[in-house]
Amino acid sequence: MSLFEIAYWTAIFVELAIRAPLRKTWKGSAKVEQRVSQKEKILLGLLWVVMIVIPFIYSATNWLDFADYNLPLWAGWLGVFLLVCALLIFARAHKDLKTNWSPTLEIFEKHTLVTNGIYGYIRHPMYASQWLWVIAQILLLQNWLAGPIGLVLFIPFYVLRVRAEEEMMMDVFGNQYHDYMKKVGGVIPKFW
Ligand code: SAH
Repeated sequence: MSLFEIAYWTAIFVELAIRAPLRKTWKGSAKVEQRVSQKEKILLGLLWVVMIVIPFIYSATNWLDFADYNLPLWAGWLGVFLLVCALLIFARAHKDLKTNWSPTLEIFEKHTLVTNGIYGYIRHPMYASQWLWVIAQILLLQNWLAGPIGLVLFIPFYVLRVRAEEEMMMDVFGNQYHDYMKKVGGVIPKFW
């Protein structure tokens, strides 16, 4: 396994560890609203396949070797840098969103609108982190099947998810979310 693949797998474990405590509390939280479409369920499942299953086959076997490509060394290190940024944003977003986090689209009994911390700069830090991740994946897993597939799948997931999520947040939080959207950017901060 190359150094860049080791970085990728380390990051997978770090993400799982960051999320584990919230996953536990999420299971026991009372939900008042759930908007999970079949399309999104399928895309979410496929996201696991392209982030873990296919990369695992790539790292653990030589079955996918025919689709390898070679990038210069700096590209791999750029991938490591983007991955570290992704993890930092991911960790900070979990710290700020706390028990309002859900793997799907849900509102809890005790849901509060978070606009502080990293959510004061961008509305979707977890998705911003995922954008960095899928770009890093192309640079770290240098294989046409295991690398770019993350980005290919994340694009439709992102479009579908953000649209449905913002619609739900508007319905639940009304003007409060509307004002928040006006002030704070989606995945890129509004510096202007
Ligand atoms: N889009 C956010 C959150 C992803 S987790 C991000 O990228 O960081 C998805 C859940 O977060 C949804 O079920 C929604 O209820 C909740 N959520 C999204 N934005 C929120 C906010 N600003 N405050 C509280 N909950 C939020």
